This record gives sequence, C-alpha cells and structure tokens, in this order.
Amino acid sequence: MTNEKCATIHKLANELQRHYFPFDESSIPKNGIYVIFQKGEVGHNQDRIVRVGAHTGKDQLCSRLKQHFLKQNKDRSIFRKNIGRALLNQRKDPFLKHWEHDLTSRKAKEQYSGHIDSNYQKQIEMEVSQYIQDNFSFVVFEVNDKAERLELESKLISTLSLCTQCRPSKNWLGVYSPKIKIVESGLWQVNELYKTALDDVEIAIFSSGRMG
Ligand SMILES: [Zn+2]
Repeated sequence: MTNEKCATIHKLANELQRHYFPFDESSIPKNGIYVIFQKGEVGHNQDRIVRVGAHTGKDQLCSRLKQHFLKQNKDRSIFRKNIGRALLNQRKDPFLKHWEHDLTSRKAKEQYSGHIDSNYQKQIEMEVSQYIQDNFSFVVFEVNDKAERLELESKLISTLSLCTQCRPSKNWLGVYSPKIKIVESGLWQVNELYKTALDDVEIAIFSSGRMG
C-alpha cells in the first residue's frame, strides 16, 4: 500500500516543472513543499526523491531554497550540514568534528572560533554549495496554508521512508553519512521518518493539486 502511494508521489513530482540551479525565482510559488532529486538516483523507474522540505515563514519558500543552494552557512540549513558531514566523512576528514559545532550564537562563536580554521570552513562551505548546485534539482507542490504544509510535509517524508522499493544507488553520497538515519532511509532526512504515511484522501489532494 505504502509502496503504491510512494510510486504515485514519484509520478506526480516527476511531472512537475523541474528547477535547477541557478533557478528562476519568478517561476517558483511563494509557499509550498519542495521535493529534491539527486543525479544518479532512481526510484519507481523515475528520478528518486531524496529529500522533502517546507518552510514556516509566510512567502519564504525561495529564501529557504537559497539557504540550501546558495547561502554559505551550514547552521541555517540542515541539508547543507548533512551534505558536508557526508563529504567530510567520505574522505575521513578530521574537520568533521568542527563542522558539527553550531556557530550561530555569540557564545558558541566565542567558545569555538579560536579553534576552527575559518578559511578551511569557508572552503568546505564552497564545496557543499558546488556539490548541491551540481547534483540536486527540485520541484514544488504549492501549499499556502502553513498548518497543511507542515502536516503534508511530515506525511510525505514518512511515505517515502516506509516504501520498500525506493533504495539508494551504490554510489549515493548519503551512505557516507555519519547519521545512521540517512544511511538507512536513503533520504537526506533525520526527522519525520517512519511515522504516519499519507492517506488516500491526501494522495488524492496531491493528485488534484488542490492544496490549501
Ligand atoms: Zn518508493
């Protein structure tokens, strides 16, 4: 059952207008759930969905997407943080332990900045941007209502994670993630996995494109 729902979602997502970096902001809805594909990943004989996300702030979808694709600050994007973790772990780079520190607060900055090679950190941020811009594309399901958006996002992630047919390729970068949830789920996600899948009514809502 879940496998069929996952296949339906893949079909719908693969039919939507695809966006590649650098994306045209005017062609992206102001509010919605974004669904990310990665080069080389196949699911249900189509491009496999590797991540789903949404935004909380009104009309902030584009700004959220830029935090992933463009803004060189891992502490504002869990997606960037996870790509960096996998890239560093893949080459057994000891900088991984510094990459983990969240430097958003002034206190954290004071505590860690002296110990962190900020030039190298910038270099990794550039590498992460390059990797994301080269390897990921996305589509958007427009959902203007915030509560509906967050609920559908969660259930969409659960639907994907519960599917037994979508598996990562042998070369998937995520297998190098130090996060076991990413390795096991085949998704760049650590939250909302294996919870409640979309029900038939919600699948029909996705199919009709009539979200709130
Ligand atoms: Zn699937």
